[in-house]
This record gives sequence, C-alpha cells and structure tokens, in this order.
Amino acid sequence: MSLKDLLDLSNDSSLSGQKWHVLRQSIVKRLLSTGNATIAELGAELQSSVPTVTKAVNELLTEDYIVDMGKITNSGGRRPSLYSINPTCAYFLGIEVGRSSMSIGLQNIKSEFVSIELGISFILENTQDSLLEFCHLINSFVDDTAVDRQMIVGACINLSGRINSMEGFSYNFFFSENRPLYEIISEQLGLPVRLENDTRAMAFGEYRKGVVDEEQNVIYLNYGWGVAIGIITDGNLYYGKSGYSGEFGHSNIFDNGILCQCGKTGCLETEISGWSLVNQFKEAIKEGKQSKIVLDENSNSLQHYTIINGALQYEDSLCVELISKQSEKMGRYLSMILNIFNPELLVIGGDFSILGGYVLLPIQSALKKYSLGLVNRDVKLKKSSLGLRAGVIGACCVVKEKMLHSVFIATNS
Ligand SMILES: [Zn+2]
Repeated sequence: MSLKDLLDLSNDSSLSGQKWHVLRQSIVKRLLSTGNATIAELGAELQSSVPTVTKAVNELLTEDYIVDMGKITNSGGRRPSLYSINPTCAYFLGIEVGRSSMSIGLQNIKSEFVSIELGISFILENTQDSLLEFCHLINSFVDDTAVDRQMIVGACINLSGRINSMEGFSYNFFFSENRPLYEIISEQLGLPVRLENDTRAMAFGEYRKGVVDEEQNVIYLNYGWGVAIGIITDGNLYYGKSGYSGEFGHSNIFDNGILCQCGKTGCLETEISGWSLVNQFKEAIKEGKQSKIVLDENSNSLQHYTIINGALQYEDSLCVELISKQSEKMGRYLSMILNIFNPELLVIGGDFSILGGYVLLPIQSALKKYSLGLVNRDVKLKKSSLGLRAGVIGACCVVKEKMLHSVFIATNS
C-alpha cells in the first residue's frame, strides 16, 4: 500500500472510522517530522490512550509504514520499543531542469537518495517534442531504479521563470493555455506532479538540508545564467499572490538600453548574470583583452560555466576581473534586499557560488558599503552547501513538505 493512500481522505465515512484514520495519519506524520517515538510518547503527544495507540501502531507495522527499532536502552523498569518510519514506505522524485541539462533524484522518506543523476543531456525548448523528451527521460530514470512507481508519492519539477505552483502553470516554458502543465506531465509519468520555481526549490533545499542552521528568515540568491532570489520568512517559503515573487533579476536598475531576456531593457540581469557575463567576455575580447579562453568560430556556444571555470581553474585574469566586477555590483543591489527584508542569513547559491571568495568577498564588501549598518550587522553571509544538488534536493523537500501538509494539487493515480 502506498503512503499516499494513508495520507488521503479515508473511505470510511463513519465518525469512528474518520477518527481512526486521523490517528494513523498523525502517528505517521509525527514520526516523519520529529523522528522516532515510543508508544507512551505518541499517546501523550496525540492525546490518545496507550491501548488505542498500540493497536494503531500494530496495524501500521503490519502494513509496513513503520518499523520497530528495538527496545530503548536508557530506561529503568520495562523497556519500551522505539518506532520509526519505514524508509522504504514512500519515495519522492525531484527534477531540476536547466537550459541544456537536467538532474533527477529519487529519495526515500528519510530523505536519502536511492538514485540520483546530475547533468543529463537535455535541451529545454518550448516545443512539444522537447516536453515529450523531458517526460521520456524521467520515465527512463524511474524505470531504471528498483523502486515500484506506486511507491512514489509525487514528483516536483523545478523550472525557471514564472511558475504558478497552485494552478500548475508554467509561463516561460512549455506553456499551454488550455491545460496546466502539471496535468500534462502527470499524465505522462503516471504520478502526481507539482511545479516549482527553480530558485524557490533551491532555497527550500538549502533551508531544510543545506547551509541554514536555525535561521528562519533567509534570502537565497540564485546567481547563475539568470538571477533570482528565494525568500524564507518565519520558516516558510514566500510565494506572493501567484508565485512570482523573487524576480530580483528583472528589477529595472540600469539605464543601459540593453535588452533583457524578459523583453524589457535595463534589468539587473543585463549587467549581472551568467548570460551578461558571456556578453561582457566577448566584448572584452573584441576590445583586444587577453584570456586563456579561446573563442571558437561559433562564439555563440560560449557558456558562463566556461568563464567561471576559467577563473577557478586557470585564475584567468580577464575572467576573474569580469566576475569580481559583477559580484561587486551584485552586492550593491543585494543591499537593497537586505534593507527591505532584514534577513538573518543570505545564502549565495547557483553556478557562481562554486567560485567561493571570488564572488563572496566582493559581495560582502559591497553589502557593508551600501546596506544600512544595523541591517548588515544582523545578516550572516554563507555559500550554498548543496551546490549542484540544491535543485533536486529542494524539489524532493518540496514534495515531502506538501505531502505532510496534504495540499498536493495533482492526483491522477
Ligand atoms: Zn528582465
């Protein structure tokens, strides 16, 4: 039996049947959220008698939702058994889609990867073929794992751009007016699907499993091909009305007339982003500056990764110079974000974060210079600890969180 069945509404409509179902759900949710417990602890926390909880626990044991971890050791008298969630009773699928690759991971309910594949070759295009290829790659990945598809509670797909997670529409990629994208993908995969903005999922991954300790007010910067922020306030992801919050990269900052990918001019991304770094690099070479990176005939294929790598691996002075100039500017405009949100922690994530000090130091110095002293004093600056896995881990965390709060939007199974 899939855990999803247990977390769904009960088929038994009688009052006693409903109460029994809720008790079973509460035991599973309690073990999931705060870990192992004895029957006495469950009884006290869920305000149920020991015989009632014992009966429910025995049922859940028989159905393989939970496991007996053995007797606890540090108790006097009769030693009670400790119960834990069965790690194999449910799985979550996380998918991160980039412009030229995608990553997929499958985690068990204890957030342990049973399978993960990073950087699978895939070109994201706004075509039906690209969408079908995308679904095909996910299906192949799932088929290659030893996990029964029925045991996968749901999948979360991270896409960049405007995502309305509640309605399941993606407005920048694979947009269809007639049908929400989650529904189309859900049909192809045979799984409940949730769409999430990539930066928001990365922020949540970092909050749950990454560099965030106790902090509850966090800004996560996704500094990559594009630029966006994920906002966590009082421990919750902030979505805004329709889920379009965090589009920091499309703030009108510069009077430079440069056309942005969003169609407007002068956005932050036009001077601070992976794609603008590529343009700045080409421009510098045209002006006669020297670099170890040689542009081939088709300089259109140049990726920001190459320039990042140039700084990191070869300490190429042009690469370092351009990146540190961008990062100083980034710090300057991030100071606005600090002044507005007064966060406890600012996490630098995305492709640029692997540069460490090359990016963090100019950002830190600009933050000190441009943000209000009291606000700056409150904030810690850290580099993402999940790196390239942030998106996949975040996607798995989002599905799990939504399942625990039973607000999953797509169910076709
Ligand atoms: Zn823009």
